[in-house]
Amino acid sequence: MFLTGMKAFSYELILPKEKRSVVNTNYALFVGKIRNSETVTINNEKIFPASNGAFTHSVKLKDGENRVIIRSNYNTQVYKFCKKTPVKSEPAEIKEFDRQRFIVKDDNTPLRSTPVDEGLNRVAHLFKGTALIINGEKGDFYRVFLSKDKTAWIAKKDVEIGCVSKPAEFINMGSKKFKNAVVQTISFSENLPYTVEDCENEILFKVYNPELSDSSVYTINIPKPEKYFYFVYLDDGTYTFKVSEVPRSINDCTIVIDAGHGGSEKGAVGCLGDKEKDVNLKIALELQKQLKSAGANVVMTRECDGNISLNDRVKIAKSNQAEIFVSIHLNSIGDTPFNLHKHKGTSVYYFNRNSKELAQILEKSVSKSAGTRRDGVKTASFAVIRPAEYVGVLIETAYMINPHDSVLYNSCDFAANTAKGITEGLLEFISK
Ligand SMILES: [Zn+2]
Repeated sequence: MFLTGMKAFSYELILPKEKRSVVNTNYALFVGKIRNSETVTINNEKIFPASNGAFTHSVKLKDGENRVIIRSNYNTQVYKFCKKTPVKSEPAEIKEFDRQRFIVKDDNTPLRSTPVDEGLNRVAHLFKGTALIINGEKGDFYRVFLSKDKTAWIAKKDVEIGCVSKPAEFINMGSKKFKNAVVQTISFSENLPYTVEDCENEILFKVYNPELSDSSVYTINIPKPEKYFYFVYLDDGTYTFKVSEVPRSINDCTIVIDAGHGGSEKGAVGCLGDKEKDVNLKIALELQKQLKSAGANVVMTRECDGNISLNDRVKIAKSNQAEIFVSIHLNSIGDTPFNLHKHKGTSVYYFNRNSKELAQILEKSVSKSAGTRRDGVKTASFAVIRPAEYVGVLIETAYMINPHDSVLYNSCDFAANTAKGITEGLLEFISK
């Protein structure tokens, strides 16, 4: 939103939205545009905008009242921030208790290596009705006993007490080989917990039966091809584990293009007031064109401005049996001081090991083609790239609030150049 009617101002602010606010962040971010060649200072520090007038500046806040003064040739404005002192809570201790049987309430429930909700500590996604042995708790988590060598953690809200039953019995197992996939099944009389280990040359799927004995672990190892994705499914005590190879020709690939955010979810906001959701869509539509002409089967999660949940984006990929998922975003910064040189350029995120190589290729090819700084390959637990049922990456093509990036992503060929970098990267990944 621009203050277009107020000619007396030589600058326009996108952030902060209010002149007075209560915050719990360590920094206040000032994002906007300077008109003409006016001099603007924030707490006496001179602001140097990019060629389009865009600027971003962060101010460190102390506990309690903070005043930030913006001065321009014509005007002085005062912003007030009241920073709340954070309340420190006592860290929870582990409490031990006798083994008890619990049941997982829903599908896709994260089983974690540590008792915190931090994303990268997920070891498996359990299915509804999985029977677990719980023998401890810490904070909001229960400790799950899997075997004498392995425990894990699950959120208390995700399980309910189950009735006592005799240990599950092994029924049978089977294996099938297809041209591009290997499928293994293993059946028990009950739904048991599992974990996945993506190792150097194989994938280990382990099913645990701790009610039978502390060492009752069934390990299924499936050798993995160089480029792969995998699938786990549990139905009525029977696990299906499938490891597939990514097709070696783009003509045989289904690629999902996911334009981040949309509708009321605007995403990050740029210095000129541009919305991330619009820039994402522009790139996604260009990419759709380029990938189609390269011969891929392309599926879009959205082709216009509209709301679509993260869950539905994943569902679209799964129901189309996509091999590759590319999510397109522009970056924002967390509660850190803004750095013009560091918070700049293209980074690519992955969650599962099978997507690392594509992330590396794209970080290089997109920065080269779009003319952005290389900002690295990183891991993150974003919902759309968590499933291992496809090779999934999330590209942060540039930073919305970096003034120099804002010149780039507002240039008329940015979307086409970014899409070209992604297309070339995908072709390299598939044919390599
Ligand atoms: Zn985003």
